[in-house]
Amino acid sequence: MTDEIEAQKAEYREALKESDRLYLAWKNSAEGKAWSASQDHIEELREALEDVEKCENCLEIVFDDEPQYQTSDGDPLCEICSPSFADLLREPSGFIGTDDEPLTPEQAQEMVDQHLKSGGNVSDSMAKVPAGATA
Ligand SMILES: [Zn+2]
Repeated sequence: MTDEIEAQKAEYREALKESDRLYLAWKNSAEGKAWSASQDHIEELREALEDVEKCENCLEIVFDDEPQYQTSDGDPLCEICSPSFADLLREPSGFIGTDDEPLTPEQAQEMVDQHLKSGGNVSDSMAKVPAGATA
């Protein structure tokens, strides 16, 4: 290890210690305690909503009227975890078409073209509010 790295390592370790110290001070402050109580409340609400679907990836609750993406197994992904149209172009075979077959690059391109025609961008999430949902 060079002297420069050695010095940076010491500074890095010191910064981590300072961060821990600040976190503990905050956690024991009124604001930190209020935050902990809010987390407990959120956990209670999540338990009460146990029958509502959760994102297959991050376990966040996905309500019927919120943008989501249905995986081929029928499980929802939340808007954040949903693939983008760029993902669709990059790996068409990772997506299943209405015929239960992996998409071809041509089919993927067609879906993306359709999305662009309706004013969307390639970087947009493929999540959408399910048809028939009452928002
Ligand atoms: Zn998610």
